[in-house]
Amino acid sequence: MPHFGKTSKARLDGCDQRLQLLFRFVVQYQDCSILVGPRSEEDQMTAYTRGRSKLKWPESRHNVQPLSKAVDAAPWPIDWNDRERFVKFAGAVQLAADFLGIAIRWGGDWDGDGTGTDNSFDDLVHFEIVD
Ligand SMILES: [Zn+2]
Repeated sequence: MPHFGKTSKARLDGCDQRLQLLFRFVVQYQDCSILVGPRSEEDQMTAYTRGRSKLKWPESRHNVQPLSKAVDAAPWPIDWNDRERFVKFAGAVQLAADFLGIAIRWGGDWDGDGTGTDNSFDDLVHFEIVD
């Protein structure tokens, strides 16, 4: 059964309990890696400057303290050129979240309408809690 490595585990530990529950569930069926959990002010501004985030500190859900309300996760092994794989993974994460009763938003479909064609900013590894 797949499981998280040390680094992924440490990143996930810095996230909201619901994200921890969700991704500990997901990883059992779909091997994945946690790329980002909480983001410090410096990391958020770097992400913003490099165009990886549209938000400045402290507006991102990754900046929520004490536990991040966003996580970046990717199917393992990561192939950044295989867009389909990220979409498929997000579908599995969404189904798991529905099953567990956790409301999430995915960066490939910000408005949650089920289509990605109207998505202004693709952040295919981003999942966040909707409160
Ligand atoms: Zn993110």
